[in-house]
Amino acid sequence: MTNNNSKIQIMSNSSQLALRGGLPACTVDWPMWPVFDGTERRLLLETLNSGKWWFGEKVRQFEADFSTFQGARFSVSCTNGTAAIEMALKGLGVVEGDEVIVPPYSFIATASAVAMVGAIPVFADIDPETLCLDPADVERKITPRTKAIIPVHVAGYIADMPRLGAIAQQHNLQIMEDAAHAWGSQWEGRGAGVLGRCGTFSFQVSKNITAGEGGILVTDDEALADLCRSYTHCGRRKHSAWYDHDYLGSNLRLTEFQAAVLLAQLTRAEEQLLRRQANAALIDKALSGVAGLRLLKPEPRMTRRSYHMYIFRLDEALLGTSRDRFIEALNAEGVPASKGWYRPLYRNGIFQQGATGAAHAITAPFAGKGISYADVNCPVCEQVCRDVVWLPQNVLLAEEAGILALAAAIQKVAARAHELS
Ligand SMILES: *Cc1c(COP(=O)(O)O)cnc(C)c1O
Repeated sequence: MTNNNSKIQIMSNSSQLALRGGLPACTVDWPMWPVFDGTERRLLLETLNSGKWWFGEKVRQFEADFSTFQGARFSVSCTNGTAAIEMALKGLGVVEGDEVIVPPYSFIATASAVAMVGAIPVFADIDPETLCLDPADVERKITPRTKAIIPVHVAGYIADMPRLGAIAQQHNLQIMEDAAHAWGSQWEGRGAGVLGRCGTFSFQVSKNITAGEGGILVTDDEALADLCRSYTHCGRRKHSAWYDHDYLGSNLRLTEFQAAVLLAQLTRAEEQLLRRQANAALIDKALSGVAGLRLLKPEPRMTRRSYHMYIFRLDEALLGTSRDRFIEALNAEGVPASKGWYRPLYRNGIFQQGATGAAHAITAPFAGKGISYADVNCPVCEQVCRDVVWLPQNVLLAEEAGILALAAAIQKVAARAHELS
């Protein structure tokens, strides 16, 4: 392996950058996503032919299997990851005017779900070496109105839950994990989602386990699970009569078809996670010490990591080129890298228009004022959005030879980045 590796390196270093007419270093057919086979077909047909299409056996089975997979006592499935965050916040008793601390480096749902329940998203910055919520900045953002914290386990990297947990305990706050990237991630053997009071996951089509759409909440707290179930199930209480609706709820139920696909997906989840992890370790090894590349911090307490994507940062000054130009060069070599789709969440229209009272803007009426995000600035997140590179999760399912070629292509571009600008 070492021999092959160095051979690839020598070959690619001796050739021009593909962007400047050289041969691409990496001609790999990357695995397609989603992955599916006869198991999905069999379970889907079984559901179709049974005529039981609605909230039954397969949904219950998937919930039980997912609880086991994640090491949780209870799971409550629902239509998508966004709805899961909303129901978690409702279940935790977050109400109008409460403040909830969220990171700005995430998908919009982390913050918009907070606003959807009438609460106020308050942004705390991220850690430059993990891209997850920075506990020190969380502490600075706590006010008497703060009710909860939503750490996001970005790309499956688990946020610093011991420190966040200590802060939450000291200030009597709830922690709800947005684990939408963290299926199978573990901290010292304990699954993401039950490191705080509850956690939520997404099964949208880009996600590592998918049925096109879908979501789930996990928790060890039975009363919280029952409340969330009630919320997804038109406000029915556990064991109550069908047309008794004691709570204000919605209809957020998963269908049997989705559960059939998810059951099949779950049979591959562990094997795929281990492959992504092994491939990420190969990339780490090849890229560590390469001038101009900054890998995320190794975290031995994270005993499993789902790798929704592989992320690293660039030092543009050291490389002598811009991140965007670097990515163009990677793409030309055959590396499907991107700058990712995250920009600081508070820069979106829903936050920036808040103070003007535009339709659907965040006005938090119960807080007695319009909320302005115009002055919000999380400098670490701003910088990360400028210098980060993402590799998508399907790439991490490739054979080892493909991963070594990909790593060699990144080394090649880094070594010759000064020729790019
Ligand atoms: C995908 C995602 C969500 C929302 O999930 P949907 O199923 O698309 O509603 C929430 N948070 C993060 C971090 C996500 O990536």
